[in-house]
Parts: sequence; structure tokens; C-alpha cells
Amino acid sequence: MKKNILAFAVSLFCLISIDGMSQNKTRVIAHRGAWKNTGATENSIAALEHAIKLGCYGSEFDVHMSTDSVLFVNHDHIIQGTDIEKATSQELSQIKLANGETLPTLEAYLKTGGKQKNTRLILEIKTSSINKERSLALTTKCVEMVKKLKVEKITDYIAFDFDVCLKVKQLAPKAHVEYLNGDKTPAEILAAGLSGIDYHYSVYKKNENYIEEMHKKKLTTNAWTVNDKSTMQWFIDKKVDFITTNEPEQLFELLK
Ligand code: MG
Repeated sequence: MKKNILAFAVSLFCLISIDGMSQNKTRVIAHRGAWKNTGATENSIAALEHAIKLGCYGSEFDVHMSTDSVLFVNHDHIIQGTDIEKATSQELSQIKLANGETLPTLEAYLKTGGKQKNTRLILEIKTSSINKERSLALTTKCVEMVKKLKVEKITDYIAFDFDVCLKVKQLAPKAHVEYLNGDKTPAEILAAGLSGIDYHYSVYKKNENYIEEMHKKKLTTNAWTVNDKSTMQWFIDKKVDFITTNEPEQLFELLK
């Protein structure tokens, strides 16, 4: 009898472990926070809080730098007619988002994110519209702010500028850094010492081997911005590590 119980326990354990391994579950990243179905403005602190409440693996947001080197969270370079890179922090702090929030600084954003540990902060360093120097200066400022607020362990970095990705790795070797622009092969990402790719979904459709190739190299794969169910399912079947989406609720439903 005891033997039978033991055998049952062992087989159950194997089943659970195999299931756990084969799951290799795709995880949900809310693109600019969870805003679409929550009424929060994208990239607002409320959107981050909704992503946390939903239990997202990560919440993505975009960072720019003012003329006096203060970091602000917004998608576009221009907000309500003001070019963030050409405005002072004083001017930018007057701007209100549609939901009534003040245009968030990176500091305020990271402070909110840092109150918890379950949802990762996916920090996109935006490419400067002025010059490369400013992109690299913004990179240094972002890494410094993450260190200052002690959120290194829950922050990942993404960027379209390859040099920005390299700079993050140089400043924070342990950081998880994914490249966004879609034009580097898995071998090039590995050679550069980056952690993974975060490519537009069409790049994976053109290069169907990328996910498997990246996994063989122990690198991660993230696809943006996937909002329809059939494309989500295509990536889930391919075992992509992360899907960045405006529809985190829908992705959670599919992953159930
Ligand atoms: Mg972004």
C-alpha cells in the first residue's frame, strides 16, 4: 500500500514538473500600462497601477528628457504642442494628462512601481529627436534614477537605439535589456551581450525561427504590440516569452 502511495506521489510529481516545463508560459506586458479597458490615460501612473492590479508580468512606459535633464514619461516626443526635449521641467510640470494627472516624471513613476514586486517596470528609453548624445545622456540618467530609487531588481530596459542598449549593459551589467528595432539577428544580439529582443510581431512572422533560435541561446523574446486574439495565439503557440499588448485582459483570458 505504502509503495503504491509512493509510486502515485512520484508520478504525480513528474506530471506536475513536466507540465510546468512544457508550459513555458507566455507572460503579459501591458503596453503603456493598462489603459485601454480601464479608462486610465496611457503612460499615466493610473495606467501603471491598473497593470499592477491586473497582475501583469510587466508594465511598459516611455521616457524622455527635458532641457534641464529631468526625465518624463510620455509616448510621443510632443505633448499638447510642447516638445518634451525642448521644454524645461518647470514648463512640463504644468501639463495635465486627460485623466487629470500631472505629466509624470520618471521619479514619480518608479516610486509608484517600487511599492510592489510582482509587476516589472519595462522602461523604454526613447531615441532623442535632437542627437545621439542626448539619447546616451538620457540612458545614463535613467540607469542612475533606477539605482537611486532601488528598483534595479524589478526594472527591465528596452530601446530602439542599439547604442542605447549597449550603454545600459555597460552601466548596469545585470540589467535585462531587449532591443526593439527588429534589424538584428539572434546571433548579433548574443554577440552584443544583450538579454533579448522585443520586436514588432511582423518581424517574427517573417523570421519564424527567431523565437527558437533565441531560446537556444538562452535569450528572451518579446513581441509588440499584439492586440488581436489570433496573433496572440500564434505567439503563445510559438512559446514567445512576453507579449506586449494594449489588451492585457484579453491576453490573460487566452492564457487561462
Ligand atoms: Mg514604448
